Amino acid sequence: MYKNLIELFKENEGKGAVGAFNLHCFEMLPAMIKAAEEINVPIIIQTSLGTAEYIGFEPLIAAVKALAEKSTVSVALHMDHCKDIEKLKKAIDCGYSSVMYDGSSLPIEENIKNTKEVVAYAHERGVSVEGEVGSIGGAEEGVVVAKDDAMYTKPEDALYFATETGVDALAVSIGTTHGQYKSKAKINYELLIELKAKLGDTGLVLHGGTGVSDEDMKRCVREGMKKINVGTELNKSYIEVVNTTFPDATPLTSLRNLLGPANEKIKDIIIDKATLFKM
Ligand SMILES: [Zn+2]
Repeated sequence: MYKNLIELFKENEGKGAVGAFNLHCFEMLPAMIKAAEEINVPIIIQTSLGTAEYIGFEPLIAAVKALAEKSTVSVALHMDHCKDIEKLKKAIDCGYSSVMYDGSSLPIEENIKNTKEVVAYAHERGVSVEGEVGSIGGAEEGVVVAKDDAMYTKPEDALYFATETGVDALAVSIGTTHGQYKSKAKINYELLIELKAKLGDTGLVLHGGTGVSDEDMKRCVREGMKKINVGTELNKSYIEVVNTTFPDATPLTSLRNLLGPANEKIKDIIIDKATLFKM
């Protein structure tokens, strides 16, 4: 079934965190949903605005909905980190079931004002919203924050932001970094526990999941993370596999034979990660 984050959180209550995996190209999509089906967990397919525009909103949404409708698991389509309110409204109108407005680089009052506008528009149309307070460092498509500027989320800001905006999910900065794949993050658990206690029903979201060790991942789930994002690892592994399949290809080699192994690889990664997210 095709669902939004609120429905996924409810369905997954007491079962751990829902994995949110970044789709970088159309080709990855069926393998991502198959991975979730194999271990019977809900899945969030998320895209950057860049990927949505590259594939096209309509064909992307139509494909996700078609796969979701005949799937044995629940599937959400979520717009990751978007700073453009008009584009978010377009995503909502076209059929995304969930969106993230990222105003984390703005002063908090401006972030709240913009997020509220997105929440009002989205909720009227049955779409869920993720916001962000504090700044998750690192480089991601469309998001570049120097690591020194990354700021931990202040619990009082998080509570104020969540109460004022009515977001369904909140990205918090507790030590992870976008695009981190060479080393592992040091998670500030004291902060995570405090955030969880203050935030209650608002689903906490961990970004930069690629840079989190398996042990830390399990602990983050135990401490109450509701959505965990993994993007870099899928992109990195896809590139590694196609780098091995493409060099020996001839003009008569079907492309499906070159991309198939990469799709299998990301399916395996999603199964591994989503298994860690189970409680
Ligand atoms: Zn992120």
